[in-house]
Amino acid sequence: MHKTVLITGGTSGIGLGIAREFAQTRKYNLVLNGLEPNGNEIAQALADEFKIKVCFHPANLLKPEQIRELARFAEEENGTVDVLVCNAGIQHVSPIDEFPEEKWDAIIGINLSSAFHLTKAVWPGMKKRNFGRIINIASAHGLVASEFKSAYIASKHGIVGFTKTIALEGAPYNITANAICPGYVRTPLVEKQIADQAKSHGIPESEVISKVMLYKQAVKDFVPVELLGKLAVFLASEEAKTLTGTALPVDGGWNAQ
Ligand code: NAD
Repeated sequence: MHKTVLITGGTSGIGLGIAREFAQTRKYNLVLNGLEPNGNEIAQALADEFKIKVCFHPANLLKPEQIRELARFAEEENGTVDVLVCNAGIQHVSPIDEFPEEKWDAIIGINLSSAFHLTKAVWPGMKKRNFGRIINIASAHGLVASEFKSAYIASKHGIVGFTKTIALEGAPYNITANAICPGYVRTPLVEKQIADQAKSHGIPESEVISKVMLYKQAVKDFVPVELLGKLAVFLASEEAKTLTGTALPVDGGWNAQ
């Protein structure tokens, strides 16, 4: 009997990497969500490659009603949502006195509030079946701050706190909740911030990777998406039932300093 994993932002970057690792086990049906216009084709390509069921739903995570619809869709298609990966996220880099109010609201909405709405929607089913795995993709910035990312860092610290709370509430029902805290991963989200990082720090774009992004990591490499995917698959397993309430740094030693 296949379990079902629902992955927000599953059609790009880290979310797609996580989807591929779940797909490779052939033990899961996948439901992907994201704003990519070719979401259906991405889902179909995974289904064809791994001979599993993969669905796509384009809910906008800024809209709570669409989030609830996404959870309903996943349960109707597969009967259950056993694993929830709240991964979708956006970024904006600018000093606080120039930080646009609408960017603050969107970052808190997508990176933090959507995880609340989605967790609330899948919770009754997980409780009833006495099994649930909630995996929130936070960030090294859920544990430490850097300048010019006020909203992002507030959202990521927030999701670490939310994760701990639902770990406590889920324990009697075999529902675990953990946050994965990656360092820099080379995805569209990172590519898009290079120009703004250069402007905010007053350095050329060519120096952003070495002087800003990888500067704080002891290991001077981007974190591979495969590592994050394999960790998510492990956190979703039966064996990981007592691993809960954590914020796991996968950040090349950034948080060791
Ligand atoms: P990405 O830009 O490649 O993917 C983001 C995904 O979120 C996309 O699928 C996009 O469609 C989706 N999304 C954005 N707004 C949405 C909305 N309103 N409704 C539905 N979906 C929406 O980014 P990524 O780097 O893969 O980031 C994934 C997660 O990992 C984010 O939460 C990010 O903060 C976190 N993270 C990334 C890094 C990194 O270096 N890339 C490091 C630490 C944490």
